[in-house]
Amino acid sequence: MRIELACVPGAPDVPNEDLVAVSLPSSGGGGSLVVLDGVTPPADGDTGCVHSVPWFTARFGAALHGLVGTRHELPLAECLAEAIEQTAGAHRTTCDLTHVHTPQTTVVAVRWDRDRVEHLVLSDSTLLLKAPGGALRVVFDRPVLELPPPLRALRDRVRELPLDSPEQEVARWEYGRAVEELRNVEGGFFTAAADPDVARRAVTGSTPRAEVATLAALTDGATRWTEVFGFGDWEALLGLLRKEGPHELVGQVRAAESADPLSRQHRRGKTHDDASAIYVEL
Ligand SMILES: [Zn+2]
Repeated sequence: MRIELACVPGAPDVPNEDLVAVSLPSSGGGGSLVVLDGVTPPADGDTGCVHSVPWFTARFGAALHGLVGTRHELPLAECLAEAIEQTAGAHRTTCDLTHVHTPQTTVVAVRWDRDRVEHLVLSDSTLLLKAPGGALRVVFDRPVLELPPPLRALRDRVRELPLDSPEQEVARWEYGRAVEELRNVEGGFFTAAADPDVARRAVTGSTPRAEVATLAALTDGATRWTEVFGFGDWEALLGLLRKEGPHELVGQVRAAESADPLSRQHRRGKTHDDASAIYVEL
């Protein structure tokens, strides 16, 4: 067993909204991991919640990882629902949990034992599963990728305009507003916030342990290596993790970001993003 991870804030003076948790072994002789990417709140800070995103991800991550690692009889989606409910209970009396910007996060959860590898993905983090023979499976939450064409056009416009220009600010606001209209509503996309019912939207699966040699879970700050900077495909990304580890992956992303600080060559919403990657050889 080999496990390596990186969880790096976008800027050293800004709280990291990502979270990575792993335990070895969990009950049942296996292991488990959780990777979260907390959603950055709007600039006006109106979330209906008196807490920060890291407050939320710390509590939700601990609840989810605890359930995944100890309640093997519970499917991962039920662990997710229960963790959402537990976390909501921690601030229901002080905060408006119906607010569209109530603290929320993407989720990747993986649990393995001697026989199988279970996975769950919600929103736009990525899971890679590689078989001993070499076949690579990339697990996405499809609705996030299948945004309506008008929204994709708005997103592309944000990426094409000069970073932090007045035009980009306007486009970013329009895109943000359009995204919010799709957040956690039917026909849109779903994140883990305060509604446990969202768990049924997660992508889940179970694979025989013998068919998984390595796996990796990444937030979108780390998948920029493939998706924004085009250094290589998913196979190449996994190869880099194997040879040089997650910190090298994040380091290469940071170097590319710093070489293009105004987002001229590689369009992206913000210069740096929190970046997390965990690599596991079973
Ligand atoms: Zn709160």
